Formats: sequence, C-alpha cells, structure tokens
Amino acid sequence: MKTDRADILALLRNSEGYISGQQLCGRFGVTRTAVWKAVNQLKEEGYRIESVPHKGYRLLESPEDILSSGEIASRLTTVWAGRTLYYHDVTGSTNNDAKRLGEEGAPHGTVVAADVQNAGKGRRGRGWETRPGEVLPFTLLLRPDFAAEKASMLTLVMALSVAQAVERMTKTKDRVCIKWPNDIVMNGKKICGILTEMTMTPEMDEIQYIVVGVGINVNHESPEEFGAEIRDKASSLKMETGVSVNRAELLNEVLCSFETNYAVFAETLDMSGLKEDYQKHLQGVGGEVRVLDPAGEYTGVSQGINERGELIVVKENGEKVQVYAGEVSVRGLYGYV
Ligand code: ATP
Repeated sequence: MKTDRADILALLRNSEGYISGQQLCGRFGVTRTAVWKAVNQLKEEGYRIESVPHKGYRLLESPEDILSSGEIASRLTTVWAGRTLYYHDVTGSTNNDAKRLGEEGAPHGTVVAADVQNAGKGRRGRGWETRPGEVLPFTLLLRPDFAAEKASMLTLVMALSVAQAVERMTKTKDRVCIKWPNDIVMNGKKICGILTEMTMTPEMDEIQYIVVGVGINVNHESPEEFGAEIRDKASSLKMETGVSVNRAELLNEVLCSFETNYAVFAETLDMSGLKEDYQKHLQGVGGEVRVLDPAGEYTGVSQGINERGELIVVKENGEKVQVYAGEVSVRGLYGYV
C-alpha cells in the first residue's frame, strides 16, 4: 500500500469527526485527485468511508481482519517498535526478510509482517506453518548494545509480551501460558512460537542485530485448518477464546507490551524485573517436566526461571539443573505440556 493511503487511513481512524479533502491534501502534500483515489482504493479493500460534500471524509467501519501496511500503520501507538514497517502479502520468512534488512542497515525497531510465509521457520531448522488470513507472522529487528550471552532472554521478553497482548485482546486471564522458553499455549495447545536469531559483527565481538520472529495462530476455526502433523497440539485464539481478533491491532498490542518489557529488561539486562510476571504465566511450575536436551533427555520438577531466564529443574537425584534456552525443548511428562 502506498504511504498516502496508509497515512490517510491513520488520520481517518484517529479522528472523531470529518476530515476535509483540503485538510488531507495539505497534510500529505498531495492533490485532491490523489486523495480521492486513495479513498476509493480503501473502499475497495472493504473500509466503509463516508464522504459528505463540504464536510469531508469519515471512517465508519473497517473490514474485520485485514492485514496491510496501512492497516498496521494506522493502528500503531508505539514509540519505536514498528515505526519502520514492511508488510508482504506473501513472503518466505519474515526472519529472513528482517535479516536482509539488518544487513542493509535498517534501524532498531524495524518490523516485517506478512499474511503468509511459505518458508516460515521454527527452532532447529523446523518449519512454521501459515495459511492466508489465519496467522500473524512478524519479526522485530533489534540493535542492542549488550553482550551476546544476554540475547536468549529476548525470547522470554517477547513471550511475556505476546501473552500479555493476547490477554488484553481476548479478555482472557489465567489461561494464557508460556511453555518455557518460547511457546505460548492455551489449554495445552500451542498458539504461538517465537524464534530469535542473532547476527554478530564480522569481527565477532559485538551483536550486529537480532531478529525476534513471532507466529501467532489467530483465525483458525477448527483443527482441520492445521496440517496433520501439528493438528493435535496446535490451536488458535479464535478456537480457544471464541474471540475474533484483528491481527493489526494484535501486532500493535504485542509491540506496545514489548516496548514496556524491553525497557524493564534493559535496566538490569536480565529477567529480574520481569521474572514475577513471566512466572505467573509459566506452565507447569512445580510439576514434572521432560527436558529434551540434545546432549541427553531427562526428567525433573520445574521450579520456574532464574534471573538469567534459565529454567530451574530439580532431577530425581536432587541435582539442580539450570537449563539454558538455546537448543532445549521442554515437555509435560505425558504430552506436549
Ligand atoms: P516444541 O514446540 O516442539 O516444544 P520448539 O519450541 O522448539 O519446540 P518452535 O521452533 O517454536 O518449536 O516451532 C516449530 C514447531 O512448531 C514445528 O516443528 C511444529 O511442530 C510446530 N508448528 C509449526 N507450525 C505451527 C503452527 N502454526 N502452530 C502451532 N505449532 C506449529
């Protein structure tokens, strides 16, 4: 979508009354015809815009859930996250797009969002499934100046931000859980995955940029809308809460939460300020978990996270292990959670 259209939509959305064609022309330095064209294109996309002679334009209604750069930009209330924004109807992977932009110098806070990814990525080279209109896949590019060993905590910061945003959007408390370190689950089903990737400077002494990729299942109405291999463990916000969520609004809510949480994280460069909130959402604290460590699988009791965001697990023999997020997955003893 051209910026004019996105800007016009943003102005209409955030105004109470009518905005005259004159005001729109003046504000964006475009002609009357350009405004008229942009408004017509918005109408074609499903926005109901009233135009009254001598008064101007007014946004009456938006399509229920449309994802476009205009829709996202017009809902953005963040300070820095998403202020540089790229949107694709279809892309390979938003993480790969963000990494490319990272190489080209894109600023801290750049967001790449898409409707569909046809090569979405999970951890350890696994895939992330998206179908048109159902998932919100996006990636946030960060250029932090802290040491590389802190980076894995950003996955936890994002997980907390997604959980809080989902709670606000669906008005659901208690049921939005985090499966350490990077999945959001509701009623034992996965509704979101997060993949954080880091690129170091050529000298390997500093972080060049980090991309935090998120895929949230939003609009699926039944298990059949997921691929056979994930059908029994995946679900969506619609399926778990019955609420229809606007993906652009959800993206804004996640980014707003992330900005707040990131500021808290940045004060101490660890999870101490966020630990209590994270722990409230953490699935299975006090229960038995299976730790799928590539170096060897074991079971133990989860005691929640420490300040470095590691999961504390006490093995049967009493040994206390601090599990580092990197390559490890955690399961319930008898199933996914
Ligand atoms: P796990 O979810 O097995 O604990 P993980 O956290 O390492 O492991 P991710 O990297 O978050 O997994 O995501 C990849 C996995 O998520 C895939 O292997 C697949 O099983 C599952 N998956 C892929 N697409 C979706 C989706 N849309 N919804 C839920 N789960 C999905």
